Amino acid sequence: MEQKSPKYIFITGGVVSSLGKGVAAVSLGALLQSRGYAVHSRKFDGYLNVDPGTMSPLQHGEVYVTDDGFETDLDLGYYERFLDIKLSRNDSVSGGRVYWEVLNAERRGDYLGATVQTIPHITDKIKEYIAAPADNADFIICELGGTVGDMEANVLLESIRQFANDIGRRNVMFVHLTLAPYLEQSGELKTKPTQQSTRLLLESGIQADMLIVRSPRMLEQSEREKIGLFCNLPERSVISGVNVDNIYKIPLAYEAQDMFARAAEHFGLENKAGDLSRFHRIEKYLSGDLQEVEIAMVGKYFDVPDAYKSLNEALFHAGIQNNVRVKIKKVDAEKFDPKDLAGVSAILVPGGFGARGIDGKIAAAEYARENKIPYLGICLGMQVAVIEFMRNVAGIKNAHSTEFSDKCEPVIDIMPGHDKIDLGGTLRLGAYPCFIKPGTLAEKIYGAPKISERHRHRYELNIKYENILSAHGMVISGKSPDGRLPEIIEIPDHPFYIAGQFHPEFQSSPYTGHPLFTAFIAAALKS
Ligand code: GLN
Repeated sequence: MEQKSPKYIFITGGVVSSLGKGVAAVSLGALLQSRGYAVHSRKFDGYLNVDPGTMSPLQHGEVYVTDDGFETDLDLGYYERFLDIKLSRNDSVSGGRVYWEVLNAERRGDYLGATVQTIPHITDKIKEYIAAPADNADFIICELGGTVGDMEANVLLESIRQFANDIGRRNVMFVHLTLAPYLEQSGELKTKPTQQSTRLLLESGIQADMLIVRSPRMLEQSEREKIGLFCNLPERSVISGVNVDNIYKIPLAYEAQDMFARAAEHFGLENKAGDLSRFHRIEKYLSGDLQEVEIAMVGKYFDVPDAYKSLNEALFHAGIQNNVRVKIKKVDAEKFDPKDLAGVSAILVPGGFGARGIDGKIAAAEYARENKIPYLGICLGMQVAVIEFMRNVAGIKNAHSTEFSDKCEPVIDIMPGHDKIDLGGTLRLGAYPCFIKPGTLAEKIYGAPKISERHRHRYELNIKYENILSAHGMVISGKSPDGRLPEIIEIPDHPFYIAGQFHPEFQSSPYTGHPLFTAFIAAALKS
């Protein structure tokens, strides 16, 4: 098949960090998609970690996992959800990885004695990643992490400057995201930081083609004219990035300002109307006067912002699918008190690592089972459901995971010898197929005999306990294709009790939800 020549959109940030570049990038992407274009998205960061897997979630929120098992920060989650696309390890590129590859090539002698330099060797490697093939995309959107003026950002900026020159200026659009703060005293939005940031970008040889200016209110015509005058671009290419209460409203806010028309103008494309019905549907949902359903999430990373980002999203999506408001009650597993669960409509135990809070999670699984409250277990949430069931139903009192105890009945254990998993006990990462047992709740939910879900864990339910579990009423309803790894468990004699060894939240879409979460919220509504 002939490969298309995609167009490229680069998003940089200025003035301050955390302005929401990723969401701005994919909102523009969504407008392109709504006109029928195929859009792909990538993240480039300056930092020197070779990949984000070694970075503390305390700094970066949850660890997101792609189908191909790459651990990334949560930006890729935004891209995948918003654009409904699948990304891979080549879509999250750090400075560390680029330097690592160049230095390894140097050690191998690949440069044949040449002097290895930032330009061209590092910049060429970055350009290689920018231009890497991407599913026949019409547009590749690249977000540059950090803020213009950061030392680390310089080599990235130099690379995109060169790239535009290489492939032709009209095949590349530079979008710069800035801030216009509001000053109480003068009652004004201030445009100077935007002017200065755009000038700083120009120092790297990059003229912004579009500015998105974050501000507490819409920019007035005169403010856009002023910014345009100082920043070298027409007033109509200055877009207000006005604050909204939900990120899915952003594409509509951009649409109202003709952002697509500006992109079409820049790239020489036809300006046509788009189908934004999927965002209108969410907008309508958000404004509805809806019934509320309360879900207890029994976890332990609540002090880390965004630690459960994808999970919160998946529950939000399930609310849309069920047309109900989902309220999450955060229950600290470490201070677990069954009273905290009184009155909630359903209980969810999310993934986690380490012993802290484990007893509370086990007690929550027990509470859900005994009180017939809908239960959804995610990864560790499946492991605690099994431990609890073995102890309290099958009567094996010392059942536990070897993650937490060396002297236990090891129902949850490291399973060496399974193909593709290193004997060292490294994490099982990325998408794995799972066969679903006919006649089960899992089959009803997924409506398919074979599914694929993403994993990030080290321990497994040992299949040798299957007979004990099933004799007491817990069914293993999903397994790896070779039958050796249990992937889903359920209790048929319960209104809704199901758990997976995987992280379904990584594949939930705001437009279609995820079957497991949609069914969970539907069950909560009935309880
Ligand atoms: N700590 C468990 C394991 O490593 C569960 C991990 C998780 O919930 N992601 O298997």
